[in-house]
Amino acid sequence: MHAVFGRRSAFAGLSAAAALGLGLPMLIRSAAAQPAAPAAPPGPAQAPGFFRFKLGDFTVTMVHDGFSPRPNPLEGFIRNATPADVEQALREAMLPTQNLPNPFTVTFIDTGRGIIAFDAGTGGGQLGGRTGTLPANLRAAGIDPAAVTMVAVSHFHADHITGLTTADNAVVFPNAEIWVPAAEWAFWSDESNSGRAPEAQRGTFANTRRRLTPYQARMRQFQDGQEIAAGVRAMAAYGHTPGHSVFYVTSGAEQLFVMADTSSRPDLFLRNPHWQSVFDVDGAMATETRRRLFGRIADDRARFTAYHFNFPSNGYVSRWGEGFRFHAAEWMSLE
Ligand SMILES: [Zn+2]
Repeated sequence: MHAVFGRRSAFAGLSAAAALGLGLPMLIRSAAAQPAAPAAPPGPAQAPGFFRFKLGDFTVTMVHDGFSPRPNPLEGFIRNATPADVEQALREAMLPTQNLPNPFTVTFIDTGRGIIAFDAGTGGGQLGGRTGTLPANLRAAGIDPAAVTMVAVSHFHADHITGLTTADNAVVFPNAEIWVPAAEWAFWSDESNSGRAPEAQRGTFANTRRRLTPYQARMRQFQDGQEIAAGVRAMAAYGHTPGHSVFYVTSGAEQLFVMADTSSRPDLFLRNPHWQSVFDVDGAMATETRRRLFGRIADDRARFTAYHFNFPSNGYVSRWGEGFRFHAAEWMSLE
């Protein structure tokens, strides 16, 4: 395979050289100077899906959990934009207009006192397709789910809580307390609210019961503004769901916002903060929350993580026209 490739590129070089009118002796020299193609790839097919950075004394690890494609993002995805507007935004961002990947990335923070998972992922493939790479990537990152001491849940959509339990309803985090927004619990634990939820989200009531019941004795509810761990404060970010919450993390002089689904893909929803996704329970409130919180993050020049940004799903925003521009974080070694 590689030998064939090598020969082919030598031929390509030959005809290019001929086209340039180069003489034969030079041509032979340049072909001989081609390095031999390696017999096998130099390592694994891809780097493992984790990305690590320091935040004061804390260590943050972003762990990829795969993605699911949206077959036709132009129709029925953004409630208050025309297909032409969505198509233009996708094209400008070099994103596909069919099978748009929705990526999942879970934030883990080692505070020195314990490991906090911010949401639980999609459950190792339980949501099908190319979801569920979290367990393998966690192993690669050296994080044992049994070492997780807290799961801080942003909201109860399936891609955020299904990973609390296996397909057989066994707990995935045997030593963790599960902290959930009180407002989120109040809504999704009461099926009489089903008339207030979009039809496509009605399964969230049953999934909430299924994923949280095994943790009943270890489940805690938090309020807006509550410090759930030293240096970790919950903040209401309602709209996407009735109790959707984000987290403000500080260590030393450094700060980080864990933004969950306040915005999905930045090229759509930060560029156009008024766009309402089909997943928003209250789109107008979600827009207000997005503008307010990302405005603060931009003005503070604060770092943040998100759940549905392109991996590794963290960085900065600046104000840009009517919206915001995303600036992906730099890769750095930790030494
Ligand atoms: Zn989500």
